[in-house]
Amino acid sequence: MDSGFPNFLIKDQMLLDGDKIIKPAKNDELAKIRKISTPGLSRPLEDVLKDAKEIFSLGFRVGNPRFFSFVPSPASPWSWVGDSLTSAYNPFGGCFEAASGVCQVEETLIAWAAEKFGLPPTAGGQFVSGGSIANLTALTVARDQILEDGEARLKGVAYISSQTHFCIKKALKIMGLLDHQVRTIEVDDGFRMSLPHLEQAIQSDLKLGLKPFVVIATCGTTNTGSIDPMSEISAITKTYGMWMHVDAAYGGSVAFSYSRRDVLSGIGQADSIAWDAHKWLFQTHGCGATIFREKSKALKSFATTATYVEGVDECADQNPWNYGIELTRPARHMRLWFSLQVMGMDLIDRMISHGFEISEYVEEELRKRSGWEILSPSSLAIINFRFAPEELKKPALDAINSEISSQLMARNVAVIFTTKLNGMVSLRMCTINPETTRDDIADVVKALDDTAREILTQIRLNEL
Ligand SMILES: *Cc1c(COP(=O)(O)O)cnc(C)c1O
Repeated sequence: MDSGFPNFLIKDQMLLDGDKIIKPAKNDELAKIRKISTPGLSRPLEDVLKDAKEIFSLGFRVGNPRFFSFVPSPASPWSWVGDSLTSAYNPFGGCFEAASGVCQVEETLIAWAAEKFGLPPTAGGQFVSGGSIANLTALTVARDQILEDGEARLKGVAYISSQTHFCIKKALKIMGLLDHQVRTIEVDDGFRMSLPHLEQAIQSDLKLGLKPFVVIATCGTTNTGSIDPMSEISAITKTYGMWMHVDAAYGGSVAFSYSRRDVLSGIGQADSIAWDAHKWLFQTHGCGATIFREKSKALKSFATTATYVEGVDECADQNPWNYGIELTRPARHMRLWFSLQVMGMDLIDRMISHGFEISEYVEEELRKRSGWEILSPSSLAIINFRFAPEELKKPALDAINSEISSQLMARNVAVIFTTKLNGMVSLRMCTINPETTRDDIADVVKALDDTAREILTQIRLNEL
């Protein structure tokens, strides 16, 4: 059955031949690729295109409607058409005067996104390559706004939860914070940062003479799609004169749906937000954004100049290089502009809602069957579950669920990797691909159940 979203996404077969959702590279294929990786004399275009296709075909098909791992990347073809156009015109996105059209679009698109998040008109920011750089950019400004010069390495303390994305620790490390300056706060039974634990940690650090400066709340954790209590965290950061950063790389796109945006309540309290359009807004890789509650605060961290740019320094307050890390930068937002213009927001709303409905359907189907346990209910289109028949005990449970994942992949039914929740191996599905149909899910859940029972039968036979 068709998804009902006619041709808005890459039809997987359109670009790549073959039917495997995962195509691991064989040694001889990699050897061949090494051979053709370095250039020599000019070759016929058709040969080069043939090689390109082979190179692109290896690995995971992250846009396949049966790929449910990590955060899948169901990119709209309008995004790559927009990106190809951008590449053809090749504007210099680092300087307003050098590309005033595209810079104006960027400013306006960021302001539009900021308003959807509930930020005030002072908000602004820029597009970056993705969530990792968006978080690094924002946290750098948090450091420079809250800590005095020289305090970062000595006294600054940042607060994350056990479910925070690992790129945050990386960013803090790049910024010069040492491991002992990062507190990992426990989560509650809904995988949200525990407020009492957060406040206790801040108070005990203050007693030690340290300087708590930032809480990183997550809007859509990678494991479970949980949303930290953003309003309450904001109240805490205000009390202690800290910065609240929200990592909404995954969940942020829900602000652009009419029907589901309420789940993000409180995000508008953030001092800064990281958001990826290359996740749930159907863009090709390399389209994230950093947004500040007060754009001008980024100047202290990034504004610089030199004699050879004096000619374009008149619009310094608009030059992107003064608000982030890069100078030369592609107009990576133009693909987003292009695809949103063509698709329209009604369709985007339906595409985002579809993701929620699909994971809710997975949950409904699993609850109908015996032996299945929901480890985290459907939240922001992510669900975790495991096969846990009463007769099996951990570690047999961990082994059987890992085996279910491997067998589904080996049979090319679906790609569902495992993660760990409270020490248990869990099957995790992220269902944001608008091309995944209810028929796909009925099929996948049946395959999960059949596979689980086959393995169980095998275990019983072995025990006889
Ligand atoms: C994906 C993700 C990131 C990292 O973003 P990249 O675009 O992969 O660099 C950070 N935080 C969260 C919550 C994410 O989902």
